[in-house]
Amino acid sequence: MPQLLNVDTALANILGSMTRLGHETVPLVQSLDRIIAEDILSPIHLPPFDNSAMDGYAIHAVDSQHASQTNPASLTVVMDIPAGAAPTASLKPGQAARIMTGAPIPAGATAIIPIEDTNDNWQKGDASLPPRVDILKPVDEGAHIRRAGENILAGAMVMAAGTLIRPAELGMLAAVGQAEIKVIRKPKALILTTGDELADIHQPLAPGKIRDTNSYTLAGLVRQAGGMPVRLPIASDSLDSIRRLYRTALAQQPDMLISSAGVSVGAADLVKVVMDELGDIDFWRINMRPGKPLAYGAMQGIPFFGLPGNPVSAMVTFEIFVRPALAKLAGRSYQPPIIKAKIAADMLSDGRRSYNRVTLSRRDGQVIARSTGIQSSGALMSMALADGLAVIPEGRRLVPAGAELSVLLLRPFN
Ligand code: AMP
Ligand code: MG
Repeated sequence: MPQLLNVDTALANILGSMTRLGHETVPLVQSLDRIIAEDILSPIHLPPFDNSAMDGYAIHAVDSQHASQTNPASLTVVMDIPAGAAPTASLKPGQAARIMTGAPIPAGATAIIPIEDTNDNWQKGDASLPPRVDILKPVDEGAHIRRAGENILAGAMVMAAGTLIRPAELGMLAAVGQAEIKVIRKPKALILTTGDELADIHQPLAPGKIRDTNSYTLAGLVRQAGGMPVRLPIASDSLDSIRRLYRTALAQQPDMLISSAGVSVGAADLVKVVMDELGDIDFWRINMRPGKPLAYGAMQGIPFFGLPGNPVSAMVTFEIFVRPALAKLAGRSYQPPIIKAKIAADMLSDGRRSYNRVTLSRRDGQVIARSTGIQSSGALMSMALADGLAVIPEGRRLVPAGAELSVLLLRPFN
């Protein structure tokens, strides 16, 4: 039997042949969850000016030095500075300016005294500006003043190229006036389905037919991985039909082609014929279960994956090979989410690296992995039930109950 290709070697080969996509410009609101393609430096200080952190009075701090409830410091109120206003005069000793949170500090002022530490009745519903205000407590120099540039200084890095834009980054980009953002293009992945036995969702199930599930699972996986899936109509098992499918796909200028089925030994060789005609494709036999057969290469320079047809194999090979590849195209960092779990019962393998569908639970601080039941590569329900894939390393045929395995998470678990 010819040697099987190691999973990690296959993945390294695939990633070695991928290059990051170029960028596109999108409005800020559409940039969430995208990868920024340029360094953004702040053109301004943020906040742009010293401003008040409290509703209160801007004063000279020294004027409050000896203030108390019984011996207040009485200051002349000379200005009202609501949010959005720009103070018109500077503040002299003995003066106070009523100021709202976020409003600019007038020149001369050295502290903010919160409104509750004054005799101002504004909070009791009297919004009129009093002629004088009593300060009931001393405040330190600089109290309750947010300094210009304390959030970020002009010229400093807001976001480096390659960073994921989350809601906080959206806010920072808005703060520096970045209405449009250069982001890495989303990989467009064409999903190719062939097989005379396949019926699409709206077609009746004639005898001998099964529904196409791979194009749905693969489209979902692509979207989940940050790509844009495009499903094409199912091709029948004829050279003409398969050629037409592939040509239609290539005409759409995809960033990736993902086909399923037709790569296993004994499969009608038509798909392989067309893959060979149109591309430079290697047919690998990988030391994994499920998912031994895998075709990988390029068609007109576009990365091409020929995944196995069995629904579980197609999904598992996507997780192991296609998800990291899409991440690389999209400029995203990707680490497989792996946790350790104790297996609840013996698990068998045939010596290939096995990805067993398991559910996870927690008992006495331990994570327990339980088989979802039938592990046939055709039984998609095992994926629907699974929280993760327990990985039995190559070379092992029996993993006893209680042993620890790595589990690749298929959904968040904590
Ligand atoms: P093949 O590689 O064409 O021999 O397909 C292997 C197995 O996967 C067969 O049982 C096919 O019926 C099944 N299969 C192939 N394509 C799909 C699909 N799109 N959806 C569901 N099952 C599929
Ligand atoms: Mg087939």
